[in-house]
Amino acid sequence: MKQLEANMRRRVLRTVFIFVWLFVLIDIVFYVSDRFIGFEEMDPVIYPLVRILLPFLINLGAWIGSKQVILSEKFTSHLKNLTVSACLMTICGTMAIFHSYFTPLWVSPAIVMVFASVFHDQAIQKSLFMYNLLIIIITILAASFENPDNIVFIAETGIIVVLICLLVCFAADIMQRYNDDLARFNKEIYRRQADYREKFRMDFLTGVYSKAYLFEKTNSIMKNASERHPIVVGIIDLDHFKSVNDTYGHENGDLVLAALGELLRDYQTDTLAIGRFGGEEFVLVFDGESLMQGWLILDELRTRFSEEKFDFTSRRMTLSGGVAVFTVPTATEAAIAKADQALYQSKQRGRNRITRVE
Ligand code: GH3
Ligand code: MG
Ligand code: MG
Repeated sequence: MKQLEANMRRRVLRTVFIFVWLFVLIDIVFYVSDRFIGFEEMDPVIYPLVRILLPFLINLGAWIGSKQVILSEKFTSHLKNLTVSACLMTICGTMAIFHSYFTPLWVSPAIVMVFASVFHDQAIQKSLFMYNLLIIIITILAASFENPDNIVFIAETGIIVVLICLLVCFAADIMQRYNDDLARFNKEIYRRQADYREKFRMDFLTGVYSKAYLFEKTNSIMKNASERHPIVVGIIDLDHFKSVNDTYGHENGDLVLAALGELLRDYQTDTLAIGRFGGEEFVLVFDGESLMQGWLILDELRTRFSEEKFDFTSRRMTLSGGVAVFTVPTATEAAIAKADQALYQSKQRGRNRITRVE
């Protein structure tokens, strides 16, 4: 959100910069063409100074000042938002004040309030409203000074412009509320997305990583593989698990899987990713570990699991495993396949053991 607002501020100031030059150019063209046509309505000294140079300097000053504020680290983003909005209102305001004879320009600063509603900040809206009123008062004074005979018309115009300014203020308020609702809605979507992501990461039954997340993790761990930083991949598979299901039922089979999941979670660290590869097979990926150390951990796990007791049977459950080491980045599927060959040997040799392949 902060970044989006920063982009917005930069864009606003870029637009202001273009318009500062555009306005001065238009004023010069008006002035020159008027002199050329020879209406002689414009004072050759006062006009360039008051109607062209002065607003130009004010606008340029506002732009330079705002630029300093938005680039500085010292100011809060609230103040930066207020500054760019006020800068935008300033260039509309100078048009209204210095060309006050042209009454449609009087309402232009009010438009900035609608723009500023994007920041959904009540304090900014209030400040801009007050600033707008000040601009209208100065515009009325400037118009009365230039054209004292027309005071009634100027007063009427002033009242209408204040009413328009109020109307715009209400419209801006409605937009701001809408923006607030939208922001809350986005936040809720973001929260739900985070929830779903969390669910997608974890296997529901065993509490270790899901297969998808395990692969995501392994892909990134594998990038670290080198001689000095070996990656050990281990796979474990419950022994005769089909018969456990067939004898004690699927629910009790699930209890065995959950017990293994609890045991596995004891081993989870920042440098060990553990996930359910499928059914009753689990994969362990050690980030920077020797083959021997990986094997020792798997073998300890195997012993601990074989000592687990279950309420529904006195039968002891066992598991077999295989470990392989990688010193160059290897595709996750290929790495698991290699560990699986070692697992196959464990099964062949009678189960309840961990085999390592060099
Ligand atoms: P082996 O020692 O050779 O691995 O024999 P096994 O019976 O374990 O091997 P097999 O692959 O034939 O059987 C795996 C069984 O795991 C089959 C399936 O019913 C069971 N299984 C897979 N996922 C689940 C699960 O989520 N819950 C339960 N209860 N059983 C599962
Ligand atoms: Mg299996
Ligand atoms: Mg099995």
